[in-house]
Amino acid sequence: MSVKIAVLKETRPHERRVAMVPAVADKLIKLGAQIRLQTGAGDAVKLPDSAFKSATFAADPIELVKDADIVVSVQPPAIEIVRAMREGAILISFIYAHKEVELTRLLRDRKITCFAMELVPRITRAQAMDALSSQAALSGYYSALLGATSMARILPMMTTAVGSIRPAKALVMGLGVAGLQALATARRLGAMTEGYDVRPETKEQAESLGAKFVDTGVDARGVGGYARELTQEEKDKIASVVTKHIQSADIIITTAAIPGRPSPKLISKPQVDGMKAGSVIIDLAAEGGGNCEYTQPGETVQIGQVTVVGPLNVPSMLGEHASELYAKNQFNLIELFLKDKGIALDWTDEVVAKTALTHAGEIRNEAAAKAVG
Ligand code: NAD
Repeated sequence: MSVKIAVLKETRPHERRVAMVPAVADKLIKLGAQIRLQTGAGDAVKLPDSAFKSATFAADPIELVKDADIVVSVQPPAIEIVRAMREGAILISFIYAHKEVELTRLLRDRKITCFAMELVPRITRAQAMDALSSQAALSGYYSALLGATSMARILPMMTTAVGSIRPAKALVMGLGVAGLQALATARRLGAMTEGYDVRPETKEQAESLGAKFVDTGVDARGVGGYARELTQEEKDKIASVVTKHIQSADIIITTAAIPGRPSPKLISKPQVDGMKAGSVIIDLAAEGGGNCEYTQPGETVQIGQVTVVGPLNVPSMLGEHASELYAKNQFNLIELFLKDKGIALDWTDEVVAKTALTHAGEIRNEAAAKAVG
């Protein structure tokens, strides 16, 4: 008997990604799985059903999931999909339980084993399963392009018959996966780059990408390689150093996040009010409320002569490559589960244990259990 994997078509607004690509489907089939997709699942990224050579299709998602062993998607599925899944089946998707309280309770009550992609531990062995990183890398790249195309200036130095244009200054605030990729891309486009973070280890990373590090003297390393929240005193110290860099930049890209907290505010209204006319802020943290006090999630706003862009679901704008990387991340996770053409979950494996949101009628993740109540 082979493992049946069902692939949902995404239904949330503006979601273009799909959780399966043909190369990954082929690899899973080689491992003995059967792949069944919802008809048209890859349409938004120009992956027609005919590209999935050895898969089967179902138009009705309820029909699709009802006898599946594993259901995969990018965004959390609709309630009625989870209701139709059989007890004990596996769901693999981004969930963010604190935003999906009803769904998480249903996953628990229906005894679904749900692996939430945002819970994959940030350890070396799990890097190939880490969809937060793969999607953040794409977002970081795209933020530099958004910045470049949101202003009436060029990034590189250009010498012309009528004189030279100076290179643009790009400042990246928050040097995690997305921020480092933004720095690298802005530099490749010819900008002079500066980076800033509250984790001092990012200095060397920024410099290795040819950027200057804006040193504020604040060390806000938290647990697990993440940053912690800042005190008011630290915020004031940072502002005294960072303001002049903000106000001399042409492009600012912000990516700062603290797990489980709203986006920290790195750019205040008065700092924006003092920015150069014609400059632009690309706030990649818009989803969590934004790093700039003027950011309106999902909108581009004009504040005096400064443009503040708050894009949502940036990976979806690069849906083709985002789907490819996401499907590969999921493949590496699913591979852990497959044994002798069946499913065997090894709960002593840190990746399996930590990625599980719900299993056997319980919420396995402590923070999620608290959020769901
Ligand atoms: P993230 O999305 O949580 O945050 C983005 C950046 O914002 C971080 O660098 C953080 O330090 C910074 N930040 C937070 N508050 C700030 C503030 N007030 N001012 C300036 N910057 C602020 O980060 P991420 O991309 O998910 O990466 C987090 C960490 O995890 C990094 O150390 C990264 O190297 C590590 N990581 C490890 C693995 C792995 O080993 N498998 C994979 C991915 C990431």
